[in-house]
Amino acid sequence: MDVYSDITCLKGVGPKTGENLKKCCIFSILDLLLYFPRDYEMISSCSSLTDEKNIGKLIINCKVVKIDKDIRTKNGKTISTVIFNDGNNIFKGKWFNQPYMKNYFKINCDYTIMGKLQDFKGETSIINPTLVKNRSNEENSEKIMPKYPLKSGITNSLIAKLVNYVLKDVDIDENLPEWIINRYKLCSLDRAIRIIHNPSSMKELQEARRRLKFQELFTYSLKILMLKNYFNENKKGIAFKISDELKLLKEKLPYDLTKAQNRVIREILIDQKKESPMNRLVQGDVGSGKTVVALISAFNIIKNGYQAVIMAPTEILATQHYLEAEKLFEDFNINVKLLCGSTTQKNKEEIKRDLKDGNIDLIIGTHALIEDNVEFKNLGVVVTDEQHRFGVMQRSRLTNKGKNVDTLVMTATPIPRTLSLYLYGDLDVSVIDELPPGRQKIETHYIKEDLKYKAYNFALEEIKKGRQVYIVCPLVEENEDLDLSSVENLYSELKEEYFSEIPIEILHGKMTPKIKDEVMNRFKSGEVKVVISTTVIEVGINVPNATLMIIENAERFGLAQLHQLRGRVGRGQHKSYCILISNIKNDIIRRRMEIMKSSNDGFFIAEQDLKIRGSGEIFGFRQHGEDGLILSDIAEDIDILKMANLEAKKLIESNNEKDIKIKNEIFKKIEQTSKFICFN
Ligand code: ADP
Ligand code: MG
Repeated sequence: MDVYSDITCLKGVGPKTGENLKKCCIFSILDLLLYFPRDYEMISSCSSLTDEKNIGKLIINCKVVKIDKDIRTKNGKTISTVIFNDGNNIFKGKWFNQPYMKNYFKINCDYTIMGKLQDFKGETSIINPTLVKNRSNEENSEKIMPKYPLKSGITNSLIAKLVNYVLKDVDIDENLPEWIINRYKLCSLDRAIRIIHNPSSMKELQEARRRLKFQELFTYSLKILMLKNYFNENKKGIAFKISDELKLLKEKLPYDLTKAQNRVIREILIDQKKESPMNRLVQGDVGSGKTVVALISAFNIIKNGYQAVIMAPTEILATQHYLEAEKLFEDFNINVKLLCGSTTQKNKEEIKRDLKDGNIDLIIGTHALIEDNVEFKNLGVVVTDEQHRFGVMQRSRLTNKGKNVDTLVMTATPIPRTLSLYLYGDLDVSVIDELPPGRQKIETHYIKEDLKYKAYNFALEEIKKGRQVYIVCPLVEENEDLDLSSVENLYSELKEEYFSEIPIEILHGKMTPKIKDEVMNRFKSGEVKVVISTTVIEVGINVPNATLMIIENAERFGLAQLHQLRGRVGRGQHKSYCILISNIKNDIIRRRMEIMKSSNDGFFIAEQDLKIRGSGEIFGFRQHGEDGLILSDIAEDIDILKMANLEAKKLIESNNEKDIKIKNEIFKKIEQTSKFICFN
């Protein structure tokens, strides 16, 4: 079986399933094998619920007591409820948008169901339980079940079935040099892939994960080293002059630049003057004023007669930059345009034509800019904002639209310095380590769940003063519907109890970009006073009149992400607050909340987080997708990353024939796929 063949060549994968698999980015058999479980579940059988809470999935025998009528939520979702009795306890089974599920049950009959016990609006419930038909006899058995990330039309059992079908038929060749395998006592690639899909013990799983993480980070390091080599070899870029008009521009600014901003701009201008292409990362905490630094850099390039492009991860952000650019450049004869997914077709065509003809000097936009038919006459600089949202590959696709252009990437993600070298090995780093003067510290508090009402009452006071409020709920990753209903439920609850007289709106990831933007614009204009949202508001949004950020279930966020969210307030002249609502279940959570309360320094927070947890969503994001890291977490796996980086360097420098062969093969694969675990 050729792992590169199309997924639809598998038996049992028809056009419809093929379509759905493709929506999960499974195009080939290789993609399927690399579609790793995002988690595993220990499934244990139990006879009674009482002592078994919080341990993962349960299999339980129970009798149906009652079948409730379906409830419809405002968004047209149905919630079906069946009430069970396991002999000792009454509990509810709830299904979202699966009204047919209740039909499998009859009152007073016995069933075996499987699911995870959760508190849903204060009641012990199993959300979306499944019916177990043939329960095995081993009463107290435990099993490790893979849980795959799921999207439309794809079920866990489908993926598991396909994976096992393929695994029967393939042999995966080893593709790391033997000296590396031996040195780090790694298991074979074939074994690792098999185990990751079907672990029989946690120990085995650890072994497989270690091997695959090493592989990922090794190839990742190779890629970054390659990019660096590439830049060193192709030294000939454009040597820009320093424009006289820069002074005028600075005079036009409504404020003085901070020392740090001036220093970073100087560093950038020095790069621009050099003939070799600039490759610089600007790191600066939220609110440190990166946008103006980007705009000034673009300005100098434009005044040299070249074009500039700024790419942002969302339309809201791109629009914000666009408005700022228009205002700043208004007296300087610069043609600025905005290109996003929602730009009308007619406008798009016109913009593309003008870009190609060189009539546009500065184009600001979203991913839409990466499209193949966006061409430039003479591109001079590519700026990407909020770098962590884009992959290395997306960045280079934009860069390739010009010839040896300068690259500037901006990020607020406070990456501890020790890490940035490995992460951004191909970039020079500048740091804006100072906030504009007069910024007040955001007063941060944490309170327990049962004192929530204090936060909402405080929100009412702020609104009375004319201010605005953000309320953020975490994503409940397990279940998108539950996710949504957590935002929706909070909305109805708050609307009824606290904000009945106040314009309040919802914002979540399932809305179209257009609707999201409309909500945000109403918030920006002050028409809407409160937005309740998932983390979609996390990056870059600037609403100076918002002074209170309430974060629900704060313990579920990474500290860096909490810091980013908090950075949405404290952007104007009013004193701002952040209230973290959190169930302090243990000491670690308390310490994390204390750090948030005591510090406003993103770098410090990130480093502390690394110290106490050393794991998980430290950046508040996982570099999934474009950057190709499926398993590894750069923070958690820093030790593996260091080893992998070291060995990657050795491989690049090695003249051993076998090594050169392996190296060439890996390089070839890196160019074909964005993933870092590749097969020969
Ligand atoms: P970020 O670094 O988070 O992208 P922005 O560039 O959005 O920050 O800047 C945040 C706010 O600070 C904006 O309203 C911007 O106009 C303002 N700002 C930037 N630099 C300065 C400065 N030197 N003095 C005062 N305000 C500034
Ligand atoms: Mg910004």
